[in-house]
Amino acid sequence: MRILLLGGTGEARALAAALHPDVEVISSLAGRVPDPALPVGQVRIGGFGGVDGLRRWLTDTPVDAVVDATHPFAATITAHAAEVCADLALPHLLLARPAWPPGDAIVVGNDREAAEAVARQRFSRVFLTTGRTGVGAFRDSVGWFLVRAVTPPDIALLPRHHHVLLSRGPYRYDDEMAVLRTHRIDALVTKNSGGEMTRPKLDAAAALGIPVVMVDRPPLPPGVRTVATVEDAVAWLRCR
Ligand code: NAP
Repeated sequence: MRILLLGGTGEARALAAALHPDVEVISSLAGRVPDPALPVGQVRIGGFGGVDGLRRWLTDTPVDAVVDATHPFAATITAHAAEVCADLALPHLLLARPAWPPGDAIVVGNDREAAEAVARQRFSRVFLTTGRTGVGAFRDSVGWFLVRAVTPPDIALLPRHHHVLLSRGPYRYDDEMAVLRTHRIDALVTKNSGGEMTRPKLDAAAALGIPVVMVDRPPLPPGVRTVATVEDAVAWLRCR
């Protein structure tokens, strides 16, 4: 059996490791980060060239199934995979880790709404963890932003008063507490990524009574078989 595994997440690496070497896994990464954590098995790196490129790739490289284990906010590749797999009648599974319960967070629909919420609430020392591409929505924001990202954001997109913290998860609770305290943070802005790797910032914010602005997930494409765990994805593949 050979599968295309759309990755770039810890779950995708765990799934590749669970299947290797019984299943021939071709993991696909977008190529956004210069030194990505690599899964075991074959890896291809870079975009496919939109829906048509993915269709071509899957026609040239026959696979028995496509498993989409990309990040919950990687909505474009997820939509492309859903469309192409439906067109080609290819078995297709979405591995989507459960969302975090929002609790008392101010839930917003996108980065722009998050910036509006920050302005409305007059937060002035914001820990912005929505990633390199989400920063642009805060470009005209007043206040000071601690911007955490894996790779450096485009300088033109950064808010006027900022400090960039380059780092990659997983993060530990004690370290997140230290970040919030050291920088006298008064609000945390996060995507609802779910999972354990980046969860400690929420626990630390809750412990310190720091409000959270949480960007809700984009909707999943309709009609795609979805599981929440690596184990369930393995079980689905074993049944094929
Ligand atoms: P996206 O907006 O859904 O995708 C944008 C384009 O990047 C896609 O159209 C596709 O290019 C290419 N692409 C994305 N994932 C790919 C993959 N696994 N293999 C090959 N091409 C891929 O994705 P994104 O939000 O930029 O995320 C990019 C990657 O980073 C994903 O693999 C995701 O799992 C990972 N990641 C994302 C986040 C996040 O917050 N968004 C966080 C952690 C990790 P073509 O149209 O040319 O095929």
